[in-house]
Amino acid sequence: MLGQTHNLFADDTPPVTAGYVTVALERSIDAAGGGFSYAVPLALAGLAVGQRVTVPLGRGNKPTSGWVVETTDKPDPAVKRFKHVLAVADDGPPLPDALVTLARWIAAYYCCPLGMVFGTMMPAAVKRSTGRKMKRRVRAVMQNDGDTEAETETKGKLKGLQAAVYEAACAAVKKEPKAGWMDPSDLADQAGAKTNASVMQLVKKGLLEEKKVAVVESDLDLRAQRAAGEVDAPPTLMQSQAAAVNAVGQALGKGFSVHLLHGITGSGKTEVYLRAIAKLFEDEKRGNATCLESEGSPPFLPGVIVLVPEIALTPQTVGRFIARFGQAGGGVAVLHSGLTAAQRNAQWGRLRRGEARIAVGARSAVFAPLPKVGLIIVDEEHEGSYKQDQLPRYHARDVAIRRAQLEGCPVVLGSATPSLESYSHAKAGRFALHSLPDRVPGAQLPQVEIVDLQRERQERKGIHLLSRRLESLMQSNAAAGGQTVLLLNRRGYANYIACPDHRCGWMMRCHHCDVTMVYHREKKLPSGGVVRCHHCQAEQMLERVCPESGHSTTVFGLGTQRVEEEISRKFPQLKMARMDADTMRNADDYRRVLEGFTSGETDLLLGTQMIAKGLDVENVRLVGVVSADTALNLPDFRASERTFQLIAQVAGRAGRGKYRGRVVVQTFSPEDPAIVQAAAHDFESFAAGELESREGVGLPPSGRMARIVLRDLDLPKLQKRSQKLAHALREAVTRLNVTVRVRGPVACSIARIADHHRHQVELMADSAAPIQQVLTDLRNAGKLISDTHTAVDVDPVSLL
Ligand code: ADP
Ligand code: ZN
Repeated sequence: MLGQTHNLFADDTPPVTAGYVTVALERSIDAAGGGFSYAVPLALAGLAVGQRVTVPLGRGNKPTSGWVVETTDKPDPAVKRFKHVLAVADDGPPLPDALVTLARWIAAYYCCPLGMVFGTMMPAAVKRSTGRKMKRRVRAVMQNDGDTEAETETKGKLKGLQAAVYEAACAAVKKEPKAGWMDPSDLADQAGAKTNASVMQLVKKGLLEEKKVAVVESDLDLRAQRAAGEVDAPPTLMQSQAAAVNAVGQALGKGFSVHLLHGITGSGKTEVYLRAIAKLFEDEKRGNATCLESEGSPPFLPGVIVLVPEIALTPQTVGRFIARFGQAGGGVAVLHSGLTAAQRNAQWGRLRRGEARIAVGARSAVFAPLPKVGLIIVDEEHEGSYKQDQLPRYHARDVAIRRAQLEGCPVVLGSATPSLESYSHAKAGRFALHSLPDRVPGAQLPQVEIVDLQRERQERKGIHLLSRRLESLMQSNAAAGGQTVLLLNRRGYANYIACPDHRCGWMMRCHHCDVTMVYHREKKLPSGGVVRCHHCQAEQMLERVCPESGHSTTVFGLGTQRVEEEISRKFPQLKMARMDADTMRNADDYRRVLEGFTSGETDLLLGTQMIAKGLDVENVRLVGVVSADTALNLPDFRASERTFQLIAQVAGRAGRGKYRGRVVVQTFSPEDPAIVQAAAHDFESFAAGELESREGVGLPPSGRMARIVLRDLDLPKLQKRSQKLAHALREAVTRLNVTVRVRGPVACSIARIADHHRHQVELMADSAAPIQQVLTDLRNAGKLISDTHTAVDVDPVSLL
């Protein structure tokens, strides 16, 4: 049925129908209701919820794809003349019920078009069937399944290879009476034939029947990844690990529950996940698991979803899942941005058909099409990258919790630095809290010291990015054969190009955005470098002379390139690799650099936050934070939380094996609580202080928030539109009699990006419900539409 278009069913066809369906169009505009009614032609009787279909749209009846979200026998009385569904657009089974319900929740909660949510759930490669080929399959024609007499008689008439092929084909049917379809080459192989000739002769004789099936070929080789995660034998669990595994194990098969696994860096969280999965699979061997019955096919056993941030960066973690469960225990499918379209389609198909039961992937793997889910794991649950920054603006951790609730299964959130959202839920008893307070046997937390850059600057001449203390430790670490990790969360060479005259104050700014430009060294260019905007990617030539006062300009501020330059000058003997968005273009780049560092070939790894997580290299004995202040000064209420997380996570790379690690944190704010408490490995004190200060002003997690950003090329138009929206919001708050504070409109902290002016309105309340009420009210009235000019961000993570 795939790709077929029945033009027979034009507008004025008499209503010969097999019922009616509501279809959420993939390209639909935002509406709170979320679908259009269509009649089902007899040829498509039995359309199910979750099926992807093609329907005619608009005057021109343009074929458009969408998802069936409702089926009914009764026509919608509001519709005069029904159009008919044109075709089923997808040859796989419909999306599981839980995903359909989840999509509805996302569309309502995050204020986005329902069809678009479905569009996000299903990768484009699956929709386009990328890599799908038609392949020949054959099987023995047998009068009655397994009629041995007839079989022997037929075989007696055949000679040599043909007889052997026929026998092998019959054996396959007997093994799987309903299936038995084989690849002709495999069949020939089994019978010891070198070519397919005898197979084809049997097809001609009518002894084998043939059909074509759709197969996705994918060359994704998980073996290399498996090697990266191979450990000799699973270790003996520490008591704290065992307690966590037990608690999660107890919860398996007993409905919905949320578990926060707060384990310091290197405390063996991944091992806890692996054992919990093993428990789920053991339960089912003992017959304790609940299966999902489905007609015709074997019952589906519950699968597992494992979310990891930016998977391409953590081949070690992924490898451990593949090593433990790849072959035997259920099969692993990986989903991440480094896959080709065909690979993604193939991986998705394996999950959909129940061939792989563990989905390991980044954000969108929360939508893995497992027919049934028995356990969900969210590793590094505090990671900001779980929030999608374009439509639909969902948070994968929160969606994971919702999915677990729909599936009726436990969800485990793991982190060394839990988000204050999750942590406060645990403190209030809504999530079960499991702590891993110690590193695995033999390893200890590193010793962290803070270097005051203000003092350093007073006591030392010249411009130095590395303090004397950090330099000397780098020296001694190199001499002892240890490896070093240096973090600076800012790429480029220098983030300011300015007039040195303070009275002038001129700085190079982007022509299209309200931000300063960043200088990037580029040796290949005759000018030696380029000035780039990190928001719109616009480039300019470096201004060497201040256009206002005529002084020669200077570049100042930090960037990874500049640190790289200083290190090669001061430590020419060290082999160094730089890891940031400029040097890492694809998953292969990561793999290469990580392999070089893991094998010990590289002495020093310098990079942005992408080196802060996941890295597990025993010989890292020194970690330096070149500037702890990059996140601290951002105009965002989570600035302290991010700073704490970044320091704690990168410090966690040191001392993971037999060597005690050392960490040096350089800062201009040596007294800042986030920095002091991160240095002391004191998450509890940090969280307590931060929660208290947020509670005082009703900021998340003690309150909830939604942010609406409006953008426009035309400033007066934008002002009018944002005033109008704020007014409508305030009016709704009064009319609905709910307690929601409306703030704004005000200009965003970056008031212009890519020539678009930006204004925001914020909604704050004690809980999510009243905010939802107000937003839904405006959506229903058509006064709030999520599109390219209006971004509704519920539970925002970034506030710039
Ligand atoms: P985390 O995710 O908490 O940072 P990992 O799960 O990566 O920690 O574990 C760190 C290392 O310790 C891994 O190499 C892992 O194989 C090992 N490990 C985990 N649990 C134990 C244990 N109980 N005994 C010894 N080694 C362990
Ligand atoms: Zn710009």
